[in-house]
Amino acid sequence: MENIIIIGSGPAGLTAGLYAARAGQKPVVLEGLESGGQLMQTQHVANYPGFPETVSGPSIVAAMRRQAEKAGVRFVMDAVESVDFTGPVKKLMTMMGDTLEAKTVIVASGAGVTKTNLPGEAKYWGRGISACLTCDGAFYAGKKVALVGEGPATAGAKVYLTRCGAEVVGIVAPGEVASFDGDAAHLTGLTLKADGSVLACDGLFLVTARTPQTQFLGTALEKDDKGHIVVNGTKTSVPGVYAAGDCIHPHHKQAVIAAGDGAVAALEALAYLARGA
Ligand SMILES: Cc1cc2nc3c(=O)[nH]c(=O)nc-3n(C[C@H](O)[C@H](O)[C@H](O)COP(=O)(O)OP(=O)(O)OC[C@H]3O[C@@H](n4cnc5c(N)ncnc54)[C@H](O)[C@@H]3O)c2cc1C
Repeated sequence: MENIIIIGSGPAGLTAGLYAARAGQKPVVLEGLESGGQLMQTQHVANYPGFPETVSGPSIVAAMRRQAEKAGVRFVMDAVESVDFTGPVKKLMTMMGDTLEAKTVIVASGAGVTKTNLPGEAKYWGRGISACLTCDGAFYAGKKVALVGEGPATAGAKVYLTRCGAEVVGIVAPGEVASFDGDAAHLTGLTLKADGSVLACDGLFLVTARTPQTQFLGTALEKDDKGHIVVNGTKTSVPGVYAAGDCIHPHHKQAVIAAGDGAVAALEALAYLARGA
């Protein structure tokens, strides 16, 4: 039986781990399928405090991880598939087939890409369709790209891709797309719902809001209609279970906010353990 298990190894999980470890709890951090979380996808972070020069996401994560490890965090490469929070002992069933038990749990499972589920998306994912500008934008220098998304983020994406040397041939809302099309190997364009016309492109980027990765919780915790865990501070609907970072914020998905939440969640978990609840 562990005192504290943390689900997720992004900024929220790593900071929660650091605080819990420095309090002598030897917490376990379950890394999930995306070790280090979303910051691993960007080479340019300009708004994380303490780094006056733009710094890469992986280097921030590596430093957080070193600090957490030094403090005594135990990292486990596994992901939670389902949970049972009905009793005083919290149970986590993992992808590797283990059942882990803890007195307290901190959910820091972040957010991921919101897919459109339109025809052709699964077929051409990674073969012309991407959701990571910083990972894949540079591949489209001298090529035509489309953006599928809405809102101010699409303008920023257009600027970024233009700087990469790509030609942005269209910005289309997901609701306006009938299908993503291509040949056997690669995407070649998209068909518009309105008139069936084809917008030809070499690649396209989804610029959609990120979805909280909380499906594995089922109905164990209260969530909003988008899947964000409903919290009071970092307290969830189940005593002894806390949540931090992008999985709780409908609007403010940022690394420094996630890290701050992680600290609060760990302090709350420590107080819960101290009460002997
Ligand atoms: C391309 C890109 C650029 C960005 N640039 C910036 C920026 O410049 N500045 C900024 O402040 N923010 C930026 N962000 C946002 C920032 O990365 C996130 O706000 C931050 O990473 C959220 O941290 P988190 O710990 O809540 O979640 P995440 O970083 O999403 O980490 C979630 C963790 O949970 C794990 N996990 C998920 N499900 C499970 C499970 N079932 N079992 C176990 N583990 C699980 C994952 O493996 C991962 O380790 C960017 C994001 C992206 C995608």
